[in-house]
Amino acid sequence: MAPQAVVRWAAVRRQEGDTLEADELALTVPGLARSWGRITRVAAVVCTIGPALEARVAELWAARELPLAVMLDSVGSGAVESLAEYVNDLLCQEGLALGLRVTNRVSPGYGAWDVADQRRLFAFCPGAPIGVTLNEACFMTPEKSLTFIVGAGPEARVDHYFSQCARCWMRDCAYRRVPAGRTVRRPDA
Ligand code: SF4
Repeated sequence: MAPQAVVRWAAVRRQEGDTLEADELALTVPGLARSWGRITRVAAVVCTIGPALEARVAELWAARELPLAVMLDSVGSGAVESLAEYVNDLLCQEGLALGLRVTNRVSPGYGAWDVADQRRLFAFCPGAPIGVTLNEACFMTPEKSLTFIVGAGPEARVDHYFSQCARCWMRDCAYRRVPAGRTVRRPDA
């Protein structure tokens, strides 16, 4: 695994209901207003664990090592989700430094948000710097890649689907809302 992420922040120019505009980004995300409330900034992220793991999965599959292939593939899926969690934590720390509360992440294709908006996210925050591409069908290569957005603002609603702090490794965070349970980052790393 070679975890990488590319991030772009922008100031929100307009927010009406579930629609928000920031620089050239214009999105309508079902349920966003209820989940996030009023935000003043938005960050878009593309992250990936790289192509090596899925290449190994393909080798195992070709060698008819099917259980191993499936197990390794699910490890890869878990890893890229953990990476996204970790980046969400880092964005939270960046927001705190600016006196902003940072929301939980949401991704195109999750819930009622149309996966076709991947194209808008990639136009705003291209994955090219970390080797991630998007095809016509909004499928990313490497497969073990994710995109998401987070919102930030003095009054932003946080933790709309789980408590970010519960998996955040940041020690001594003055804004911690709940104790850290199982963090996604090894303390000794
Ligand atoms: S402990 Fe909570 S408030 Fe502090 S950086 Fe982590 S997620 Fe953000």
